[in-house]
Amino acid sequence: MPSTKKDYYEILGVPRNASQEEIKKAFRRLARKYHPDINKDPSAQEKFKEINEAYQVLSDPEKRRLYDTYGHAAFEGTGQTQAQDIPSIDDLLREFFGEGFGFDFDTIFERASRSRRRGERRPLRGEDIYRTVEISLEDAYRGTTLEVEVDRDTECTSCGGTGYSRDKGVRTCSTCGGRGHVVQKQFFITISQTCPTCGGTGTLYEPCRVCGGRGAVRSRETIKVRIPPGVDTGSRLIVEGKGHAGRFGGPPGNLYIQIRIRPHRVFERKGDDLYVDANVTFPEAVLGTEIEVPTLSGEKVKVKIPAGTGHGDLVKVAGHGMPRLRGGGRGDLYVRVNIDVPKIGVLHKVFGDGRKVEKLLKELRELLPEPERIKERKP
Ligand SMILES: [Zn+2]
Ligand SMILES: [Zn+2]
Repeated sequence: MPSTKKDYYEILGVPRNASQEEIKKAFRRLARKYHPDINKDPSAQEKFKEINEAYQVLSDPEKRRLYDTYGHAAFEGTGQTQAQDIPSIDDLLREFFGEGFGFDFDTIFERASRSRRRGERRPLRGEDIYRTVEISLEDAYRGTTLEVEVDRDTECTSCGGTGYSRDKGVRTCSTCGGRGHVVQKQFFITISQTCPTCGGTGTLYEPCRVCGGRGAVRSRETIKVRIPPGVDTGSRLIVEGKGHAGRFGGPPGNLYIQIRIRPHRVFERKGDDLYVDANVTFPEAVLGTEIEVPTLSGEKVKVKIPAGTGHGDLVKVAGHGMPRLRGGGRGDLYVRVNIDVPKIGVLHKVFGDGRKVEKLLKELRELLPEPERIKERKP
């Protein structure tokens, strides 16, 4: 989406070095032209939202600096420039166009943005919650159900999420009589200003005692999360609706579960494949053998180590890797062959035949042809 967003300067039709005055002027001109109450073209509303969004950023020196540096990415995910925050401006502008003369456009505008900051009572989506959980490789193999403890905001039952008490509830602001602005006359000019008491909403709220006006209470909840077979470190699961509660009838956010897999004692994982190290003796490597190898399913499989297997060679056991998260089936298991080199001293101590082994090895040393000592690297 960010790549398809239009440049804010382009939207307002001003150069990148435009002064605040020029930006205001451009916005005022465009608002008169595209405000949906004036311009009945169906596309005007979207256009106006776009214009307003651009203005909200470029008229704020701090936001403008961020935008100049990072572009639209500066506000991604913050909801700061989301168009749905805007509509309250419609009413305010309607008021302006009705009054006609003596109107201070910027004051009206500031009122709109301030009331938004104060949490105007329109539906807001709840925030998302992020959790990282660590699971064993066995659990990732089989899939599991986790119980995740989350401190989340849920709707305050005392006030039904409104944030103000039900009995005392809502009062009309007496300073402005509910209009949201106060009017001052100076000479021939009438100046409309945001009501300092209610911040422009026209209404005063008696905050709910239980939630203190937040509309939500925080409590610990245990949420069951189903982990599908095949997840890996970095996999992210979404539990919809288990983030924080929304406000004023808005939907709740989501719970995001980030997976981390604990290192395993035996298996190393690479994608959907598993690797296991297995020791064989030198004669076994030369002559070939069959060994038993553990798998994550718990059963052991017999694996043929072919004659002439070298140190570090991989022997593939098809279909005994991790389940594939997408597409089904399983990855493979690779046995990494390690040629075990015994210590003579240990052989003497551990086995009664230690001396015999040493003698045979010495004979073998004499019998084996000398190998090519320096191996050439494969290009
Ligand atoms: Zn409450
Ligand atoms: Zn007021």
